[in-house]
Amino acid sequence: MADLDVVVVGAGFAGIYAVHALRSAGLTVRAFEAGSGIGGTWFWNCYPGARCDVESKDYSYSFSPELEQEWSWSERYPAQPEVLRYLNHVADRFGLWPDIQLDTRVIAAIWDGETAEWTVRTDDRAERTARFCVMAAGCLSAYQVPAFRGLDSFRGPWYHTSRWPREGVDFTGLRVGLVGTGSTGIQVAPEIAEVAERLYVFQRTANFAVPNRNAPVDPEFERVFKTGYREYREQARASLLGVPVAGTGRSARAEPPDELQRTYIERWQAGGGMPFLGAYTDVLIDRAANDTVAEFIRERIRETVRDPAVAELLCPTTYPVGAKRLCQSDDYFAMYNRPNVTLVDVRSDPIEEVTPDGLRTADGFYALDAIVFATGFDAMTGALARIDIRGTDGLPLTEKWAAGPRAYLGVATAGFPNMFMVTGPGSPSVLSNMVVSIEQHVEWITDCIEHAVSHEYTCVEATSEAEKAWGEHVIEVAYSTLFPMADSWYVGANIPGKPRVFAPYIGGVGTYRARCDEVALAGYEGFVLTVSLAEGRRLAVSVSVNPQAQEVLDGRAAAGVPPTWEQTPEEVRAGFAPVKAMIGPGPAVASVRDIIIPGKAGEIPARVYSPAPDSPGTVVYYHGGGWVLGSVDDWDACVRTLAVAAGCDVVSIDYRLAPEHVFPAATDDAYDALVWVASSLAGGRPLVVAGDSAGGNLAAVSALRARDSSGPALALQVLIYPVTDHDLDRESYRQYDGREFILNKADMAWFWDHYTPDPAARSNPYASPLRASDMSGLPPAFVLTAEHDPLRDEGYAFADRLRAARVPVEHRHYGSQIHGFFTMVNVIDDADKAAAELGAAIRAAMGG
Ligand SMILES: Cc1cc2nc3c(=O)[nH]c(=O)nc-3n(C[C@H](O)[C@H](O)[C@H](O)COP(=O)(O)OP(=O)(O)OC[C@H]3O[C@@H](n4cnc5c(N)ncnc54)[C@H](O)[C@@H]3O)c2cc1C
Repeated sequence: MADLDVVVVGAGFAGIYAVHALRSAGLTVRAFEAGSGIGGTWFWNCYPGARCDVESKDYSYSFSPELEQEWSWSERYPAQPEVLRYLNHVADRFGLWPDIQLDTRVIAAIWDGETAEWTVRTDDRAERTARFCVMAAGCLSAYQVPAFRGLDSFRGPWYHTSRWPREGVDFTGLRVGLVGTGSTGIQVAPEIAEVAERLYVFQRTANFAVPNRNAPVDPEFERVFKTGYREYREQARASLLGVPVAGTGRSARAEPPDELQRTYIERWQAGGGMPFLGAYTDVLIDRAANDTVAEFIRERIRETVRDPAVAELLCPTTYPVGAKRLCQSDDYFAMYNRPNVTLVDVRSDPIEEVTPDGLRTADGFYALDAIVFATGFDAMTGALARIDIRGTDGLPLTEKWAAGPRAYLGVATAGFPNMFMVTGPGSPSVLSNMVVSIEQHVEWITDCIEHAVSHEYTCVEATSEAEKAWGEHVIEVAYSTLFPMADSWYVGANIPGKPRVFAPYIGGVGTYRARCDEVALAGYEGFVLTVSLAEGRRLAVSVSVNPQAQEVLDGRAAAGVPPTWEQTPEEVRAGFAPVKAMIGPGPAVASVRDIIIPGKAGEIPARVYSPAPDSPGTVVYYHGGGWVLGSVDDWDACVRTLAVAAGCDVVSIDYRLAPEHVFPAATDDAYDALVWVASSLAGGRPLVVAGDSAGGNLAAVSALRARDSSGPALALQVLIYPVTDHDLDRESYRQYDGREFILNKADMAWFWDHYTPDPAARSNPYASPLRASDMSGLPPAFVLTAEHDPLRDEGYAFADRLRAARVPVEHRHYGSQIHGFFTMVNVIDDADKAAAELGAAIRAAMGG
């Protein structure tokens, strides 16, 4: 057994929340943090002037409404000490300290495929094993000092803004050189200029900056705002950048010049970068539209800076505004009116070397007492590259990413099972309000790990195909915008030799979240989830039973329904009458007719439900009932519901039942009926097989037989908690081995005994389709499973086998449902929901 369920690397906004979320899911967690305090960015970047450029009401956690209401920010854009206090308060409030180990750097994380565990090594020479690794090491935490010749010889001190001395630095009366004019340089420069005798700002790229209009938070505004905080957060989650921005909804190119100016002046006066970029729909995609903003900002620079030559040097011209992070400052440009500040343009006059006394450029020498590097980070990948991470077969992550990072949804990378990245490359991350993105990732990762743990998956791994497709999408979206036109750290341009790949996803926080949710809903589409049923690997996570399902269970218990396995087949069949009465009728369908299908062994009764005259295709449906009970009448309500939801003909089949007719009678009828429907009813339109429980087994087997006998072609197989294997030695059988969950192990053994009295026949793939030696070439599948169901794990196993054979699988797991819920329309709301989901999948498969 691993020492821990999860190791978290880093304790900034991401690591702190990951510890809380994973722990709340009942998992054992330990976060390792290299710093001597938590807070990440807000711990390390304690230079003067450091503050957020997203407003405090947005740049804060939303996971706890209580925290949200309790905490009060003092400023619209809080400074570093306040954000750090906030994060420490969060750790105190949620009791996170015991699970965070400070002053400990993770130096290696090595995957062991045999044990399915990560071995995590830290710089205190300790080693821990964990089932999962969550990398919360920060997109902007691997700081970068330029390799200037002679830096070692400099006699004075030099500082990087991201490793600022905690006791502070006194620049009073000193000559200071500042290298770098990005977000940080712009924040720190006015603070140094205030006290230094002289400040030389070495600028390579002039950057756009807009005012913050920072101010104290008005208590009345805060009180009123907090009454609608929840709704506001929802808007943020669905937004483009993680902050609800009121745009005009119009194109800047189409806007009359007066109106354009009015909008920009309003936004300039209100302060903030995102409202500026979000003012018009085309600012980030159309160069001419972008130029309207760029020119507006350049005009403000020329207005502010008195020396026209300096103003011109400060006017950015080399990239579209917004294609690099838009800087924010209330006093940066005005600082150049101070007599003690000099701007040095190192694009025309490059830095050649550092000498013991200062900095030499091609054309001059600047005597300095101290140097400040605001030169940024090896962004997005730097922190991970500094850890020796090895995945399957010892592959180093740095090797896999040698030509640029590749990750599925920015959250996982193929070849590195059970490793997740928070705000990794390929996710909105640095292009958003990062707290929104961090929360979304942490919650998604926690759900995924919980899912794996509660369903006995040993490994969760992104497939190379999904990763490739996502990577292509990220690039395609990026190149539909102006972002790639800038030499920014988004593309790694600030790091010599770094492959130039546009790393973040610009499709929008809301769109991205929806995609992640779809992936999870489809049973983690694009991931391979490997089942291991070895004892002792399961970490139980108790999942409650849906209240309506619980009522059904309670009703059965109160009525004293005897266990199936204690009854005769006749008694079990008769016992279905009260269930049918409880369920009641299904919805009206335009036309319902009973037909007789000529089967090889005799007539097969069936019922055709036609919800509309021109059906786009046909579903052949097999009812459940353990091959022993059930009929088209008994299943009438749920099949009607499905027919309405799918909007197509559904043919429900009355196949022969056991024990009167043992295996292979049911599957023969099922397949004969399918062949007949294909040739006599379907009229060349798409054909789908579907069924629940034992009917799911018949549907899966019919699909196998259709492949093996070259027809008919199927557009989809819909398998609702299907029986796929006769092996009852599975965790889900052990877990629900009791009457209260409708079906139990003894019941299932009883059904198998009646269907296949010859035990040898059970391993025939037409009885246990999970045993088919080859799953390739089967039709796409929609697999539905229920949590409280002995058949759960074989449903999962079947979905896995199909995926492994490259069969497209949509897997929907109903986390609180019981076996049989799909038939209980009118009683359990999820039955209708499931029918709607299956209906949508069927319509899509039929080209609707
Ligand atoms: C000056 C500055 C201002 C910013 N302002 C904003 C803003 O206004 N809005 C916004 O959205 N974003 C802003 N950002 C981005 C900011 O990084 C994120 O908002 C957020 O704080 C990131 O949190 P995180 O936990 O993902 O990473 P980080 O805060 O970077 O935390 C990662 C932690 O992991 C630790 N770590 C890394 N490697 C290891 C290892 N091998 N072993 C152990 N520990 C390790 C690091 O020490 C660090 O503490 C700003 C960034 C900077 C630098």
